[in-house]
Amino acid sequence: MILKLTILPGDGIGPEVTDEAVRVLETVALGFGHQLEATRKDIGGVALVRSKDPLPVDSLEACLGSQAVLLGAVGGPAFDSFPSNLRPERGLLRLRQELGVFANLRPAVCFPALEDSSPLRPEVVRGTDVLIVRELLGGIYFGEPRQTSGAVGSRVSIDTMRYGESEIERIAHIAFQLARKRRRQVTSVDKANVLDCSRLWRDVVTRVAKGYPEVNLSHMYVDSAAMALVARPAGFDVVLTENMFGDILSDQAGAVVGSLGMLGSASIGGKVGLYEPIHGSAPDIAGQGIANPLGAILSGAMLLRYSFELETEAAAIESAVAKVLDAGHRTRDLARGGQRALSTSEMGRQVSDAIRDQAQPAARTASR
Ligand code: NAD
Repeated sequence: MILKLTILPGDGIGPEVTDEAVRVLETVALGFGHQLEATRKDIGGVALVRSKDPLPVDSLEACLGSQAVLLGAVGGPAFDSFPSNLRPERGLLRLRQELGVFANLRPAVCFPALEDSSPLRPEVVRGTDVLIVRELLGGIYFGEPRQTSGAVGSRVSIDTMRYGESEIERIAHIAFQLARKRRRQVTSVDKANVLDCSRLWRDVVTRVAKGYPEVNLSHMYVDSAAMALVARPAGFDVVLTENMFGDILSDQAGAVVGSLGMLGSASIGGKVGLYEPIHGSAPDIAGQGIANPLGAILSGAMLLRYSFELETEAAAIESAVAKVLDAGHRTRDLARGGQRALSTSEMGRQVSDAIRDQAQPAARTASR
């Protein structure tokens, strides 16, 4: 298969971690008989500096003309004083809208070797494997009107939470379809005791669930879900929720399983899938070659799974990451008392080597 990708390294540690993700994807392509065609383009701060636009036209065109997009991170202190339409983050928000990716998937998996990296006790976090399915293009982040009016001292601000039935329906279908391939449990999170939007959400999700009788649906208020996610994280399978609740809960789930550097994400449902680690550009460690590339690498696994349906190849990356961690390899953010910290590229190479070890027997079997 030809895998036509656009790579948007972005700012800070973005280029460092995407280099390693691309290295791993190249190894997978070689080992499993695919061909990677990757084009690099600018986004974010680097694009602002080079072309005064956080999402230049040629970057967007390349993304729309490819089958999947892998992004590093955008932003940095140099751009904090820029007007809001000229911030690096605008480029990313526009890209998500242009691609029409309304479903954000954020897995939070506790790798056995990293049980000690969680702020929770190992027996609480053990076995955690949650997939948060967050609606990405609606709700209070996009609803109109939104404004601040009045004189300083008596200002009033308004944001609008708005959801239409079709927006809820399409994200619910994604959650149920994913749950069918997992442990068949969807927890829909809302605030139906207070918000009209949430009552509509609950109603529509319940209706969609009737088409998936093999999946067990439960509903939870967002405050209880936040509590349960730290008290019993292993009890969740798929968590389905709207934009703002998902933003908050997915960061919380990420913290539960350890370092920010470990977490990948997929945004799907539109013309072209977008894959990115959940961390930012980490300006405090950028350029030092010490960032953890595993979030970007695991985003690469999601890219193979959701944009190309290459499940074996995606699983090969995930098990290579688990193997490397089991063997005791750690980047600085994961290293504990006396463990040697690998550089970003050393970690990428370890994962590539582990994939090569898995792919060779597979390739030999295929050629027999
Ligand atoms: P951040 O995620 O960049 O960093 C938070 C902390 O985690 C830092 O101490 C950093 O060193 C560490 N960290 C993050 N990723 C790591 C990795 N892969 N390996 C090791 N350590 C890692 O968040 P921030 O500091 O709040 O934001 C920095 C910039 O990134 C800001 O400009 C922000 O707007 C932007 N940002 C971008 C995205 C994105 O591109 N999707 C997401 C969040 C923040």
